[in-house]
Amino acid sequence: MKYVSTRGNYQPVSAAEAIRLGMVPTGGLFVPEKIPTFSKEKLTELVGKSYQDIAQQILAEFLTDYTAKELEEVVNAAYNETNFATEEIAPYVKLDEQSYVLELWHGPTAAFKDMALQLMPHLLVKAIEKVDLDKEIVILVATSGDTGKAALEGFKDVEGIKIIVFYPAGGVSKVQEQQMVTTTGTNTSVVAVEGNFDDCQSSVKEIFGDQGFKELLEEHDYQFSSANSINWGRLVPQIIYYFASYASLVADGQLEVGEQINISVPTGNFGNILAAYYAYRMGLPVNKFICASNDNKVLTDFLQTGVYDSNRDFKRTISPSMDILISSNLERFLFEMTDHDAAKIEEWYQDLEQTGKFEIGQAVQEQIKELFVGEYATEEETVKTIKQIYESKDYVVDTHTAVGIKAYQKYLADYDDPTLTVIDSTANPYKFSAAVLEAVQGELETEDEFEILSQLEELTGLEIHRGLRDLEEKEVRHDRGCQTTEIKDEVKDILGLR
Ligand SMILES: *Cc1c(COP(=O)(O)O)cnc(C)c1O
Repeated sequence: MKYVSTRGNYQPVSAAEAIRLGMVPTGGLFVPEKIPTFSKEKLTELVGKSYQDIAQQILAEFLTDYTAKELEEVVNAAYNETNFATEEIAPYVKLDEQSYVLELWHGPTAAFKDMALQLMPHLLVKAIEKVDLDKEIVILVATSGDTGKAALEGFKDVEGIKIIVFYPAGGVSKVQEQQMVTTTGTNTSVVAVEGNFDDCQSSVKEIFGDQGFKELLEEHDYQFSSANSINWGRLVPQIIYYFASYASLVADGQLEVGEQINISVPTGNFGNILAAYYAYRMGLPVNKFICASNDNKVLTDFLQTGVYDSNRDFKRTISPSMDILISSNLERFLFEMTDHDAAKIEEWYQDLEQTGKFEIGQAVQEQIKELFVGEYATEEETVKTIKQIYESKDYVVDTHTAVGIKAYQKYLADYDDPTLTVIDSTANPYKFSAAVLEAVQGELETEDEFEILSQLEELTGLEIHRGLRDLEEKEVRHDRGCQTTEIKDEVKDILGLR
């Protein structure tokens, strides 16, 4: 299978090439030329299979230039008992008669990014072998918190790769920061940037597009790649858990094969929900996608009005991994929704670049509305949802998951839809323990985030995620910081290019 640019400005490439390049060098994102389909028979055959088996099967559909043996190797290297604390890899919890929470945070760093980032580095290493590149790969990551640590863990000590992570100073939780700055590995760097996530992301994107810088790197035998969710290697692993959870629900007698489900996804860059959409296009029976946002509800407004308008105040919320005004992966979705109309995509994204907004027109909007509903949760609603779920179900959810649950509750209130619904749980509650403890307890007795971890454990009895235990005792290994305008210099410094 070949991968094409959403903007029609690049020749079709293999999966390995798309993964190696990260994004299209001339702008745009790589997407599969044609989405493979899964018949009902094939779907039925998944029932009872292990996560690893399902993973191999889904990956084989998209990564046709990887051999079955290679896929088996990468899957086993990623989804094993050392990296994931449960045999199911992504288990679900039944919340009530018609909704299920899909726990995507059993990997090493307590956030759903592990689902993709434990696998993606192995795909990248194989990709480099395939295109026979003798350059060292430099991974640049802009993170609003969770991607950073997940990428560091996924890439650390992987041969032939260096990873540099930029995060907004003060824009991630203390625990997230501590997770990142204590990362071991000889090939890892972490930099705090004075600015918000969008500033970080656009500076990193700018570096990717900088021809002169690229040449400088090449002179030193380096080449950039990206581990952000714009890389196809990040997206494809996320398709797996939608099939795997569906198969588990069928195996457990909760669902009949062929029966539709709804999927509610707390959304930021639109990657996770896009993976669900690809699963649907492959044949997963889905009725509605609930795109859940926090107060940065640019996607909710977009789905309601057909206008994507990023000209608004950036808000810092208690669900910071969704504090995003430019949802990069939406571009891939719009490419599908316009039947691969690259000229349209180019036009809209030119508009976005020049004016901060674009409008998709009624026809495309109607089509999207048939499948997607946008709902959002305010800060207060998020807090109340955490408390409500804890008190009524004795189940602790993090702030992002609470946004997904609240959005689903709002959807139910609007549409009264009895379809079984899977709600993605994207982080372990301990990853955002201050907000969670405050929600459950009413107020905080301390500001010390590490003390808060213990208090939350004492109160709820839920064991602290292994990736967050004893964090404060770990040695800080990274103390770099810079302005957004200095990101490029920082990269040069780290790579020894000056
Ligand atoms: C990254 C992240 C999200 C948003 O996922 P996207 O794929 O960017 O939409 C939601 N919740 C958590 C905890 C995350 O880390």
